[in-house]
Amino acid sequence: MKRKIGFIGLGAMGKYMAKNLIKAGFALTVHDLNPQPVEELVSLGAKKGKSPAETAREVEVVITMLPADDEVKAVALGPDGILEGARKGSVFIDMTSLAPHTSKYVASEAQKKGVKFLDAPVSGGTTGAEKGTLTIMVGGDKALLDEHMELLQVMGKTIYHVGDVGMGETVKMVNQMLVGINLAGIVEAFVMGTKLGVAPEVLYKIIRASSGNSFLIEHRVPNYIFTGNFTQPGFAVDLLRKDLGLALESAKVNKVPLFLTGQAYQYYTRATAEGLGKKDMSSLIELLEKTAGVQVRGKVE
Ligand code: NAD
Repeated sequence: MKRKIGFIGLGAMGKYMAKNLIKAGFALTVHDLNPQPVEELVSLGAKKGKSPAETAREVEVVITMLPADDEVKAVALGPDGILEGARKGSVFIDMTSLAPHTSKYVASEAQKKGVKFLDAPVSGGTTGAEKGTLTIMVGGDKALLDEHMELLQVMGKTIYHVGDVGMGETVKMVNQMLVGINLAGIVEAFVMGTKLGVAPEVLYKIIRASSGNSFLIEHRVPNYIFTGNFTQPGFAVDLLRKDLGLALESAKVNKVPLFLTGQAYQYYTRATAEGLGKKDMSSLIELLEKTAGVQVRGKVE
């Protein structure tokens, strides 16, 4: 018999992850506030869950892939939420990027109802979600993770157990600090080089073969910055700003100075104020391009 899984949050990432689970032979019940991806998944064989409680009621495992902390708390703990419907002994895997303390709180509420919890945020973007090659960092009981390894392997290629509940989110938060800082640096450097008269293609070609290269340069420069298409599926400015905000909150509690993360946070906050919030994070370059009076566009052979 097919294993029954509930999936809540069918956005840029969740839609692909749910599709891969259907392809791999799991019986899915899906829920989202937006009816469009729900209908798409239903046309592929999923059942529609009218609420988080109904989605969780019949399944062994419920997965959430929502924007952030408030949505997960509402969907998990609110009226008609997951914990109202989930059966004793079932498992709740939250794959959203959110604050480690939120994972711990949701896990403790789940435990009161006899529901087991793992935090399992991901990295790898929409391409990784589509191809099933995400990196997944998991916090919680190792034996519980081992029991669900096969399920996670449908969505991810590299799956790490990093410690107790909340530790998956901690590693993800650290990764996001590097994404925010690195991308802000790329944007500044490419605008500077272009303003000083170097062709953007030349910058790209040479930096790719030099010590300034990075994963974000290889992906964001040719596909987003050079094409100027910041509305294709990607990682929204608002989501990165949220992730950097989580790091700053945690830094305050733990008394860690985060100068660069703070500056990057200000950059993306300004980008949101300029109307770029829903666009891919690399649209940050539009702010600097406007100020410097140049555009970093090009073709890649
Ligand atoms: P998204 O905004 O595209 O998708 C979120 C989905 O949740 C939407 O379909 C929305 O309708 C749904 N939703 C919101 N509130 C809801 C509620 N109360 N009940 C039911 N559904 C609700 O976000 P995304 O890009 O898919 O990202 C999801 C999570 O994964 C975020 O935490 C993000 O930081 C993280 N993440 C995203 C990427 C990426 O490249 N997009 C990469 C790694 C991690």
